[in-house]
Order: sequence, then structure tokens, then C-alpha cells
Amino acid sequence: MNFFAPRMSRFKPSPSQIASTRVRELQAAGRDIIKLTAGEPDFPTPDHAKAAVIALMDRNEIHYTPINGLLAMREAARLKFRRDNGLEYGLDQIAVGSGTKQILFNALMATVSAGDEVIIPAPYWASYPDMVLLAGGTPVIVSSGQNSQFKMRPEQLAEAITAKTKWLIFSSPSNPTGATYSADELRGLAAVLMEHPHVHVLSDDVYERLVFDGRTFATLAQVEPGLYDRTVTCNGVSKAYSMTGWRLGFAGGPKEIIANMSKMQSQSTAGASAVAQAAAIAALEGPQDYVTNRTANLKYRRDILFEKLNAATGLSCDLPEGAMYIFCSCAGAMGKKTPDGKVLETDTDFTMYLLDTVGVAVVQGEAYGMSPYFRASFVAPEEDLVRGGDLIQQACAALR
Ligand code: PLP
Repeated sequence: MNFFAPRMSRFKPSPSQIASTRVRELQAAGRDIIKLTAGEPDFPTPDHAKAAVIALMDRNEIHYTPINGLLAMREAARLKFRRDNGLEYGLDQIAVGSGTKQILFNALMATVSAGDEVIIPAPYWASYPDMVLLAGGTPVIVSSGQNSQFKMRPEQLAEAITAKTKWLIFSSPSNPTGATYSADELRGLAAVLMEHPHVHVLSDDVYERLVFDGRTFATLAQVEPGLYDRTVTCNGVSKAYSMTGWRLGFAGGPKEIIANMSKMQSQSTAGASAVAQAAAIAALEGPQDYVTNRTANLKYRRDILFEKLNAATGLSCDLPEGAMYIFCSCAGAMGKKTPDGKVLETDTDFTMYLLDTVGVAVVQGEAYGMSPYFRASFVAPEEDLVRGGDLIQQACAALR
């Protein structure tokens, strides 16, 4: 008899664990590994957020918080949605949780059951399909390749919608591709959604602040007000303010959905940490100008890695428009032989080859629903991007 619940076999743990385990083994054996796998910016928490937490501790205000977040936190989220996205939410339309991931999880767990379909554009953040499976639903994957900048076209969306579609999970800029939809591109998708009033939208906007080359961020409920009543707009402080460890996310959406998300949270983690909320309020309400400099710094690092990868034999990538990753094709390396005589058949073979031979860690595209690709994060010290890029070129040149 299996001790564990059937739900445990419905989903996988994070697939980047394959690489992480191997990285740890190699490091334990004394190898120097360059990690191009970071899923978080490397800037410090802003000083004004740290100061707000110290002040909170001095006031001894660290107690249980309301399930739907402190009033001041909901006000800060409301201000953010108004200021940055032109979206107006009442205080009873805001959910607060321990990270955007929990917010997404709550929304799916509160609404998805057997038979429900959830549309997920691929390449996708690896957690989306597994969260849908855990909730008992069916992920419907819509793949868009490099030739369409990894962006779902309106006709693809239209084709994927059925009477059973409950949600579209949508994220721009995307992890792993950095694909960033313009307001016009969003309007194209919104027009399809307007024809199908039963389809709700879970808009994951965590990478909102990481857009490059003068692009502006837009979100679905903003470009099509007709979607406001069926869109949950999710965000957090992790990527925008480099505050991943604080674990704070929030959402704005229809009152009834938000109330059910909070109900779900009430029997798991309850209210988000008081400390994290104090830091998030300060980050959201405080100065915003330093974020622009951080984004410029990430763009500088993006360009270094991009040039290195594109110069490698058999690799091809396009300049990502946002987020922190380059999603690079390794199709030209497939079927080639390593110096040890192994034929590379999958992107996992390729990423393991990079790790074992030149000590550079990246994540296989399979984890994000598209092969043969790999995701390389440009959140790494400049010297690691240069040296890592050179080593990847060297490994590619050694293939026959
Ligand atoms: N959504 C996407 C697309 C992500 O890539 C991540 C983290 O990598 C998250 C959500 C989780 O964000 P948070 O740290 O706010 O839970």
C-alpha cells in the first residue's frame, strides 16, 4: 500500500533539480562550476525596505496578520496597481500571500477541479502545469516557437479554447524566454478572450519591471477593460525589487475569487509574514527610480551573454525583450558526438555535457516545455558571463 496520497504522483518537483543535484556533486568533488541558473536578481533589498523592518521590530508589531494581508499592505498593492497599471481595485479585491507562487497556487486550488482545462502558453514557467495537475485540472499547452518570438498568436489561443477552459495562465515578460507582449499584441489575445466570456485570466506579472530596450510593460486587464471582471492580476516584490527571500506576493481581481483565494490560504499558511509585508509596503510606496538603473545593469549583462551564446557553433538565440534569461536553441548540437564519443540526443544530454566537461550549469529546455533549448540566466557576475560564455563556445566547438 502506498503511504502517500495519489495527488503526490500527479505532479513533479522542480525539474531544475536534476541540474542542481549534479552541480552539488561536482562542487563536492572540488570542481569550479559557473552557474547560469539563477532565477532571481542579485541586487540587495533596498535600504528603505530594510529600515521599515527594523522600525517594525522596534515597535514590536510582529504578530499574526489578517489572512488577506495588513490593511497597509493592501493599500500599497492598490497604489501599485493604480500607479503602474492603471487598474483600480477596492481593498476587498486584493489578496496578499507568501510570494506570487502562493497567490497563483491559491487561485488554482480554489477554482480548478477534475475536467477543467487551463491554457498555458509554452515555453512556460515549469510550475504552471504542475500546479494545475495538483489542483486536479488538465493543462492545455499551446506552443509558440522561436520563429514567433515564443509568443502565442490569437488564432492559437482561439483554437485551444473549449467549453471546459477555466483559465488562461499568462505571463509577460516570460520565464524562460523573456518574450514581452506589446499592448497591441495583448489586444489581439484580448479580442479572442472577449468572444469567450467563460475563460478567466491569471496574469502573472512578476517580471513587469524587467523590460529592456525602451519597451513598456502592459497587462491584459489594463489593455482590455472588458476583461477586468475575470482577470486576476498577480505580482510580487521578488523580481521587481530583488526581494525573493522575503516571500511576498499579491493580486488584484474579482471580489469573489479573491475571497476564495484567501479562504484557501486560511487553512494553509494563514496571513503572510508581518516582516515581509513591512518590507514590501516600503518597496512599493518608496522611491522607484533605482529600479531603472538595476534594469539597465541587467540589460548590460544580457548583452554580454547573448553575444557569447550566439557566437557558439550550433547555438542560436534571439535577444530577450525582458526577464533575466536567454532561451537558446541547441538544435545545431543535436546528433553530434562529444569528445568521449557520446551522441547528444536531447537538451538534457547537452546541458549535462556542458556541466560535466566545462563546468557551466544551465537548465534544459524540456523543463519549460520546449526542446531542444536551454535557459541561461544572465544574473551572474560579469566575469562568470564572459568565462561561462567562452567555455560554452569551447564545448560546442569540440562536438563532431
Ligand atoms: N512566476 C514566475 C513566472 C516566476 O518565474 C517565478 C519565480 O521564478 C514566480 C512566479 C514566483 O515568484 P515569487 O517569488 O513571488 O513567488
